[in-house]
Amino acid sequence: MSDHLNLVLVTGAGGFIGGNLVAALRARSHKRIRAVDIKPLDEWYQRFDDVENLSLDLNLKENCEKAAQGASDIYNLAANMGGMGFIEHNKALCMLSVLINTHMLQAASKYKVKRFFYSSSACVYNGDMQKTFEAPSLKEADAYPALAEDGYGWEKLFSERMCRHFREDFGLYTRVARFHNVYGPWGTWYGGREKAPAAICRKVIEAKVSGKHEIDIWGPGNQTRSFMFIDDCLKGIDLIMNSEILEPINLGSREAVTINQLVDMAEEIAGIKLKRNYDLSAPKGVNGRNSDNTLIQKHLGWEPGTSLRTGLEKTYRWIYDQYLARERGEAGVVREAVAVTR
Ligand code: NAD
Repeated sequence: MSDHLNLVLVTGAGGFIGGNLVAALRARSHKRIRAVDIKPLDEWYQRFDDVENLSLDLNLKENCEKAAQGASDIYNLAANMGGMGFIEHNKALCMLSVLINTHMLQAASKYKVKRFFYSSSACVYNGDMQKTFEAPSLKEADAYPALAEDGYGWEKLFSERMCRHFREDFGLYTRVARFHNVYGPWGTWYGGREKAPAAICRKVIEAKVSGKHEIDIWGPGNQTRSFMFIDDCLKGIDLIMNSEILEPINLGSREAVTINQLVDMAEEIAGIKLKRNYDLSAPKGVNGRNSDNTLIQKHLGWEPGTSLRTGLEKTYRWIYDQYLARERGEAGVVREAVAVTR
């Protein structure tokens, strides 16, 4: 049977990366896609009528089995997550994603799925290596000795290892990528779970629309990060799933910027300058972090390359449209606008 006729399962499909992955799989002519998320269907960011859309709580083993049955490939992206504000205040909830990952791996083994992809995170890296603002490039080996981000990061590290041992002990084909800050259209941009690029775009838009030319920034503004545009993330997922890379591998941009530089870019795109108020009591995460891409270059001869300026402009324009639609009282426009049929 042609690969395009095999059933592909995407979990977390009502969210940012999962929704974009379903869209990408459709664009690559996959004919049989099952999309699963705990959210009711009308709250999904993207939903396609030619896809089997299921609203299921994957904390439960029986639902993971329902989702996995008949699938050839699984992309397991479902997790309870958000930006720093969310993960610092919801550690237990983040750790409970271990239920999803455990039950999905068990279901994948039970139904003998061919391939299993797991989305880990740069939050697995040892916190002691991220104390300087000079954006240390984290290479894969730097996850050990383990001192992961408390809560969310520890769960990711544990689930990575579970993927490894399901591969070694049960022969399940598993591939694991450590995503570094992903951003782009169709992501969370308000409500408390949004991450820095979307939050900064929204705040700049709010300032522009309201005429109140000020912005609140979490932390001192000199924390460094790298941000990967969603198109690069989707390409990397595909390359890693099809590769022989057995160990968890970085999937991130290595263009490090400070949060202040991120704000500079958003201001430039918006064509305004804002007074900056730094909230030093707000959650700010580690001081510096960047992706070391030596290994992905070695294996794939490729790494995420979309410049932040290019990706941010696309993201800003998308959030701007969403923002105006919401202002007009079109609540839910994000979700409904894309319930399309091919
Ligand atoms: P997201 O929050 O937009 O999507 C995750 C989805 O999982 C949500 O729609 C949520 O409803 C769903 N979900 C949560 N609990 C569930 C459950 N019990 N059953 C079924 N569905 C459930 O997040 P995202 O940015 O799309 O992240 C996707 C994956 O990538 C996650 O595993 C995340 O940890 C990982 N990741 C993302 C980033 C990033 O910058 N976005 C960075 C590192 C890792």
